[in-house]
Amino acid sequence: MRIDLHTHSDRSDGTESPAALVRRAHDEGIDVLGLTDHDTTEGWDEAAQEAARTGVTLVRGIEVSCTFAGSGVHLLAYLPDPTHPGLAAELQRVLDGRNSRLPATLERLRALGIEIDVHDVRAVAGETAAMGRPHVADALVALGVVADRNEAFDRYLGPQGPGYVHRYAADLETMIGTVADAGGVSVLAHPWASRHDHSALDERGIRLLRDTGLSGVEVDHEDHDEPTRAELRALAERLDLVVTGASDHHGTGKVAHDLGCNTTAVGQLDRLLELATKAAAASGRATPAVVHP
Ligand SMILES: [Zn+2]
Ligand SMILES: [Zn+2]
Repeated sequence: MRIDLHTHSDRSDGTESPAALVRRAHDEGIDVLGLTDHDTTEGWDEAAQEAARTGVTLVRGIEVSCTFAGSGVHLLAYLPDPTHPGLAAELQRVLDGRNSRLPATLERLRALGIEIDVHDVRAVAGETAAMGRPHVADALVALGVVADRNEAFDRYLGPQGPGYVHRYAADLETMIGTVADAGGVSVLAHPWASRHDHSALDERGIRLLRDTGLSGVEVDHEDHDEPTRAELRALAERLDLVVTGASDHHGTGKVAHDLGCNTTAVGQLDRLLELATKAAAASGRATPAVVHP
């Protein structure tokens, strides 16, 4: 049983349509797929149709951009009711923040002498719900300014780069509560990735989040090396949190994130789905079902 609970389609910054992503999962022997586009549920229906057709089990999710103690944190929200007013409004706020960030980013790049405008970004962005920095990076590649996304982030778009513009993100503790209220469950995405400041996500911080309603942590992720995984796994066990693993696949948009390169154990998925069933019952919301073949 191969379970990959964190992937992106072109409705955020992946490069494949939701249907193509599900087909790839099927072709590559993934049994259970989580679709977790950034801040949007736009790909859910298309993915669900393809999952029913191909026999892939689909767990619908969202990777929500949050802040905790002043730093950016990604939260994987699984199976919430997407029509929950608080959740929908907050996701819209995050998407609006990203969309207003784009013109400001392009303005800064032009001030650096790089001839780039919104059409250059649109040309590489496909069907995304929100054009963001990965698409600006792709446009910079297409324009020959940098060789790949990594160089674009290192030289221009990362937090220390001259093209970086701050944007709105959801408050993490509030979002965990909102996800529960919408009948879903929350998992911290790649909490100890070295590219983020994660000093607040120590045992004390994660315990606080668990007490707020956090259900799990993503341990097996390419941004965690082996010692980091071992330490985080032990911490998750002490705090009785579900442990997940996933590829964070972005199609061709991110190298070394092939589908299934990290996976979740079946017992951990069962626990997560049990908690989701409880959250759905407690909330009374019409939450999406797991698509079973
Ligand atoms: Zn992430
Ligand atoms: Zn991701």
